[in-house]
Amino acid sequence: MNYQEILDEIGHEFKAVQFEGKVASYIPELANVSPDKFGMHICCLKGGNYSLGNARESFSIQSISKVLSLTLAHLYEGDKIWKRVDVEPSGDPFNSLVQLEFENGIPRNPLINAGALVISDILVSHLSNPKQDYLDFVRKLAGDATVDFNLKVAASEKEWGFRNSALINLMKSFGNIQNDVEEVLDFYFHKCSIEMSCATLARTFLLFANHGQLLGRGEAVIPKSQTKRINAIMQTCGFYDEAGEFSFRVGLPGKSGVGGGIVAVHPGAYSVAVWSPKLNPKGNSSQGMAALEALTTKSGLSIF
Ligand code: GLU
Repeated sequence: MNYQEILDEIGHEFKAVQFEGKVASYIPELANVSPDKFGMHICCLKGGNYSLGNARESFSIQSISKVLSLTLAHLYEGDKIWKRVDVEPSGDPFNSLVQLEFENGIPRNPLINAGALVISDILVSHLSNPKQDYLDFVRKLAGDATVDFNLKVAASEKEWGFRNSALINLMKSFGNIQNDVEEVLDFYFHKCSIEMSCATLARTFLLFANHGQLLGRGEAVIPKSQTKRINAIMQTCGFYDEAGEFSFRVGLPGKSGVGGGIVAVHPGAYSVAVWSPKLNPKGNSSQGMAALEALTTKSGLSIF
């Protein structure tokens, strides 16, 4: 498969298209990003790396970090975490409060905000220095010690994080948050503020295409069966209330973030990251979804 040719074709075709959407502004610091950025990067298990556009420029990975925190929390608590967070698609926006009230403070899945806050609570319980320990874990997966939080983005989200405060306080009232809510929120905002380029992000997620092993480093981070489960959760819950649409159009497990990034994996073949900050009304990158749809259509390969 000539992935570079496919990426170049996508770049060429998209030049003539004006993608709709708005850069996220509910976290004011995210609104400073240029809406015209577009990058894409593929990392193949066989060793090839292919790039397009702004693939080496860093952006805020936001909710994409929820997959990495879930991975780390499962290493500490194993299947016990499923007593506190479910694995069903929500069909609701990422920051919705509605289901939580009906479902007694148990979030639908770990990839919406409520679920990620419970996962953050679990990590705050287990890690001795939560922010630094989490960052070290992410750096290890990325194979890059320069990956870092963007403190301005974390502070900006903290200042405007009323909805996340509401979610965590509601769950605390149901007994599903064990630590101090401010400490958990601080951890959550920092974790979301991590910056990566498409190239770093694709490399970080390669283990989900590689049965849980770090490529070329001979180390299993998570067991094969757990990798299968995390990919399944990405497939069914990774795109807010548009997970069905992403599956339908792209046919790969993946996760998006309001920074405009999307990462997806083709188990046994590659990981791919794309970044374009303009979001559709459901909060997913419009151009990013179109680019991934073009990739699986042109390559003729998806998991289905
Ligand atoms: N930090 C963002 C929030 O909690 C993440 C949202 C996202 O990327 O979906 O609202």
